[in-house]
Amino acid sequence: MSDGCFLCRFNNTSHAKLAQAFITDNAGCMTTHEMAADLAADLTVSVPDAVGIDRAMILIHIEEHSLNPNLRLSLMLRNLFKLSDSLLLNMNKVDESGNTTVDAKLVETYLKVQTQIMTIYKQNELNKLLFAGT
Ligand SMILES: [Zn+2]
Repeated sequence: MSDGCFLCRFNNTSHAKLAQAFITDNAGCMTTHEMAADLAADLTVSVPDAVGIDRAMILIHIEEHSLNPNLRLSLMLRNLFKLSDSLLLNMNKVDESGNTTVDAKLVETYLKVQTQIMTIYKQNELNKLLFAGT
């Protein structure tokens, strides 16, 4: 929580609650940047007290302040996918002879990341939370 953050400071107001509900409902289908842009556009128009609120402030709230489990799990899942993609891209190496080889450690790590992703997907209760609105 941050005193300078509108969504933290006005945590119990109806607008902040609606904003948090929007974040929770859309965490499984929107990026943090997309949610911040939508909320900034809405809050600056609909809430006169939202002085100084902008996309950057909302993004910090979403990515750093909120500990909502639905949001944190969706961020964790997105990060695991980014890590997975990066590992997959860097898995092949070209040796001094020009032969392509596979980095066994990266393959091992990639498979561990896939296991973590599958663990999250297999938890039915979490899926109900994450993808309830999608
Ligand atoms: Zn905040």
